[in-house]
Amino acid sequence: MDYKTLVEVYEEIEKTSKRLAKTYFISNLLKKTPVNDLQRIILLLRGKLFPEWDKSKIGVAGRLVLKSIAAASGAHNTEIENLWRELGDLGLVAEKVIQNKTQITLFQKNLTVEKVFSNLQKIATIEGMGSVDRKTKLISELLSNATPKEAKYIVRTVLEDLRVGIGSSTMRDAIVWAFLPIDINFDSEKISIDVDREEYNKMVEIIQSALDKSNDFGVVVRAATVGISELEKVTIIPGNPIKVMLAQKENNIDDAFKRVGTPAVIEFKYDGFRMQIHKFQDQIKIFTRRLEEVTKQFPEVVKYVQENIGAEEFIIDCEAVGYDSKTEKYLVFQHISQRIRRKYDIEQLAQKLPVEINVFDILFYNGENLLKRAFKDRRVILEKIVKEKKFEIILSHKLITSSKEEAMKFYDESVRKGNEGIMVKNIEGIYKPGSRVGTWIKVKSTMDTLDLVIVSAEWGEGKRSGWFTSFTLACIDDDGNLLEIGKVGTGVKEKAEEGLSFGELTELLKPLIKTEKGREVTFKPEIVLEIQFEEIQKSPTYSSGYALRFPRVKTLREDRSPEDACTLDRIKEEFEAQKKS
Ligand code: AMP
Repeated sequence: MDYKTLVEVYEEIEKTSKRLAKTYFISNLLKKTPVNDLQRIILLLRGKLFPEWDKSKIGVAGRLVLKSIAAASGAHNTEIENLWRELGDLGLVAEKVIQNKTQITLFQKNLTVEKVFSNLQKIATIEGMGSVDRKTKLISELLSNATPKEAKYIVRTVLEDLRVGIGSSTMRDAIVWAFLPIDINFDSEKISIDVDREEYNKMVEIIQSALDKSNDFGVVVRAATVGISELEKVTIIPGNPIKVMLAQKENNIDDAFKRVGTPAVIEFKYDGFRMQIHKFQDQIKIFTRRLEEVTKQFPEVVKYVQENIGAEEFIIDCEAVGYDSKTEKYLVFQHISQRIRRKYDIEQLAQKLPVEINVFDILFYNGENLLKRAFKDRRVILEKIVKEKKFEIILSHKLITSSKEEAMKFYDESVRKGNEGIMVKNIEGIYKPGSRVGTWIKVKSTMDTLDLVIVSAEWGEGKRSGWFTSFTLACIDDDGNLLEIGKVGTGVKEKAEEGLSFGELTELLKPLIKTEKGREVTFKPEIVLEIQFEEIQKSPTYSSGYALRFPRVKTLREDRSPEDACTLDRIKEEFEAQKKS
């Protein structure tokens, strides 16, 4: 398929904010895409080159793209740089520069989706000597043959910043519209659909379920072209991470019981970070909540799993919790967060900041997908296979009860031991990957926090002039658009010994710079901060329509990705809940 066809769809989608309209455009494109291009199209539509479970990155900086634009167009670096400063989007710069150039070029090859995809994927794998030149060549080869509009989207894809919001639910629905046996009449005037709702929801669930298991739109779309029976065959593949299940919140045990029913399973809510551990073909792989592989960073956990879990093949869901080996007291997340990122002196760090694995769920066991099994049955399997060993691997501490008094006592015990509160779980509940469903409810003792993404910052002044000191934060909407919700600087320290410092954040943010205008700098959205706040307020200042009163940085969440950021819906809910209380 010609790349041009995809670009036309990007343009249509960019012009609308209506989800149904986007779904319509995407589904039409999918219908006419040849089967061997489907996987590429589905990835490129969301500005990606790899499936959801594969965290490989293109990893190209703006400077290198600038060089490629210059090479492809003959324009001067300074001209491109000036335009970049003016437009703030290298995609638009490429469009403009290529436009001027095409007036004098006669010979161009039509770019195909396959060519664009293969050049971009190559870029992601190039390393070592001469890699900058080779990458520049691959990009400029595409740009030389691109129309101005094509250049705009090639550049944005290279920079992993497509600026066309297509959330995973829109993509899922588009697959239903394109391939599943259901009549959908789209009214382009009213932007509405006429459909048998019950049947439609069933179809959406079929796609969602295949997606939950594979975490790979490419696999799902290919199965969808064959039919429902093929979609039902899609299964979990140990080694490929699955999105983790998430919890909703209630303020007290009564409400939590109402939500999940009784008797309920109550567990300690540990303050560590999520680990999904896979064992398959004698290999062990560890993933964080953002599905990044961290096996190398946790050699001792690999050993605990090998020695203490008696099964050949499984996927378990756990919380890794830090403890002080001298006092034997558990530590809050901040203390161990550096273990996720550290790539050197790993053994020493493991000694200094040891973790205990608290296992609370199992998703796959010896060839069997357990997602649809009742929670109580999954727990029985865990109890059978995990040999508990304190400070290595244990099962999450639990109580099954219908009694509020017992639950309160358990809650107090959990908080006394330094945990965040409790999790209240539906005893029959299935495992729903990636969803905040009401079968897991958290009841926390600590003030609630929000995970927000840094989208821009300001350089400091005076003695802070080498650091970013004020950070603009954003939440995320259904289509993956980041919406600003306020600025924060409080809570970040000047001295590294005191906690998360300006210096550390600045170093993390520098490689992510997109544009710089005076003291204002924008970034690729990558860094997630956990933010405490006093109150949520309505505000016309920020694009989310909300602002935080007295925000304060609690910690850096290296285990979370921008997609895990707090949703606009959650902000709205919190705002309403606040009004009531
Ligand atoms: P929150 O991050 O506040 O939404 O709380 C959910 C997180 O609590 C999960 O993602 C886990 O990392 C963590 N957690 C701690 N203990 C448990 C538990 N017993 N069951 C499930 N999640 C837990």
